[in-house]
Amino acid sequence: MIALALWIASWAVQAAPGNYLLVDEAALQAAQRKAESQPWAGRVLQQLLSGAEQALRELPPVPERGGQWPHWYSCPRDGATLQTISDTEHRCPVCGTVYTGDPYDAVIIYRVHNRLSRAARDLGLAFRFTGREEFAQRAARILTDYADRYRSYPRHNIYGEDKIGGAKATAQTLDESVWLIPLAWAYALVRETMDQEAREHVENDLLLPAADLIREHKMGIHNIQCWKNSAVGLVGLVTGRKELVDEAIEDPERGFRAQIARGVTADGLWWEGSLGYHYYTMQALWPLAEAARLAGIDLYTDRYRSLFDAPLALALPNGDSPGFNDSAGGNLKSAAPLYELAYARWGEPAYGRLLSHTSRDSLEALLWGLPEVPEGPIVPTQSTLLPEAGYAVLRSPMMTVAVRFGMHGGGHGHPDKLNIVTFGAGRLFGLDPGSINYGVPLHREWYRSTIAHNTVSVDEQLQANKDGRLEHWEVTEEETMLAASAHTVYPGVQLTRTLRLRGAQLQDRFECVSEREHVYDWAFHAEGRLTTSLPLEPRDGQLGADNGYQHIQNVAAAVTDEAWWARWDAGEATLILHFAAEPGTQVFTGLAPGRNPAQKVPVLVVRRRARSTTFEVTHEVSVRER
Ligand SMILES: [Zn+2]
Ligand SMILES: [Zn+2]
Repeated sequence: MIALALWIASWAVQAAPGNYLLVDEAALQAAQRKAESQPWAGRVLQQLLSGAEQALRELPPVPERGGQWPHWYSCPRDGATLQTISDTEHRCPVCGTVYTGDPYDAVIIYRVHNRLSRAARDLGLAFRFTGREEFAQRAARILTDYADRYRSYPRHNIYGEDKIGGAKATAQTLDESVWLIPLAWAYALVRETMDQEAREHVENDLLLPAADLIREHKMGIHNIQCWKNSAVGLVGLVTGRKELVDEAIEDPERGFRAQIARGVTADGLWWEGSLGYHYYTMQALWPLAEAARLAGIDLYTDRYRSLFDAPLALALPNGDSPGFNDSAGGNLKSAAPLYELAYARWGEPAYGRLLSHTSRDSLEALLWGLPEVPEGPIVPTQSTLLPEAGYAVLRSPMMTVAVRFGMHGGGHGHPDKLNIVTFGAGRLFGLDPGSINYGVPLHREWYRSTIAHNTVSVDEQLQANKDGRLEHWEVTEEETMLAASAHTVYPGVQLTRTLRLRGAQLQDRFECVSEREHVYDWAFHAEGRLTTSLPLEPRDGQLGADNGYQHIQNVAAAVTDEAWWARWDAGEATLILHFAAEPGTQVFTGLAPGRNPAQKVPVLVVRRRARSTTFEVTHEVSVRER
């Protein structure tokens, strides 16, 4: 009986006037006051209103068909992202090819759908801030135009097939959810201005069928399911369908609570192991957390909060992420909009400090940003270990080394156990190239290869998609020591990497042990001018035929029995790798794709043929005297 009373109370809150799913009347009034007292908030409101003015004049009509997967928008030959010349012409900036027709044209349509849904949200907010009916009417017309068309869009996936997982306005339930969330907000913001018939049309012919399409596709603990939960939950809240809200929040296999309980590691890192997907998941979660809060359901748990801590723990000194797994990189500051809401809800000073380094020019800052934030550094100066996720960042005043040794991370994981990313003398050296658009072969061939990473490849093969293990971690005043192993990524081979960071030097010992003879390739990628102490001779062709080796070009080679060095110069900064002597060591240099596939990055591959071998390397960074 008490539970029922609470249930009725919470639904009364949802139905109460002044709850708009995204914000309530009190938050809008606070934002209005903020805009009057804080210049940054004033600018965001001004942009919102001028964007809404512009939308009145020049929004495109609701497209006659659904859009396509944005990952198709790359040149299939070289992986470069295409430039849009017109709605039907798409040029590769590298090879100059102009592509026409689908899927490229349909990617432009995908963008139109997203532009319209965001515009509907902004028009709805502009209406609430100004009370101007024409903003509400324009938002309502986007909603009713969609309601006129939505049922007639054929369901299609990224290959154009009518299958579960495909969608109507877009090509995936993921993208459908990203598109639907702002439409649900828009509806909550303006529905009071719509007549009953129009409201029923929007609910029955747009919001509910879209939610049903998304629900039919069932996934487990995954960033995509988090987006779907938010879309379905918001539709449930705005249409008063309790069963949709329950499913989005409470479903034991895939609801919001299950995602937080099983998807967030004890270290606060999202299980997919990529900060790109970590942020993407954070973006997916908050719309439902906030809408639920406005309806009296509290999803703001400590475990949810820990998601905001992991990016801080893993950041490089300039705030960039190490770029592990499928990830386009990204800086802490670009995640500031997420931290605006987090700081408002939890008041954690570290989140506020991050905001103090940003221009606070986001909608999130206007709606939730606290006027006062503490100042101070963002990135920790101490070494950090995420033992469950299997990530560590070794830090000294001169050098930072991010290491990935633990969980693979599912479909977006890379076969790169014991990979290191290094930063010193003010810049990134040891590079993880991250990922590019998934629709091009280069993504699989290079970005998901082992040789693209700063670790050891065995017999020119990919590592298996297995987890590695922490062996030792010790932080003292003078140094940080990490030992980690990967004994299951190659059959019959045990790999152990031991790193000691002290000042400007990293001692790097990579042990490879087997009872059978193998070819061990120790690789390191870094931007800058690469030179070595060896007489390298140019060699024809690529370094190998497959598994990423085919993308290492301009190969030069040498053989040495002695100690030797390799050196990268970039601007004022220098990185020198000193290699201990080992008879019969083969050394290759070459060029391979970097974060941008059009920009080739120098790579060093150190090869040994043996049953067992140990690569003993000292990495030393310095800033050159002028
Ligand atoms: Zn091209
Ligand atoms: Zn990678």
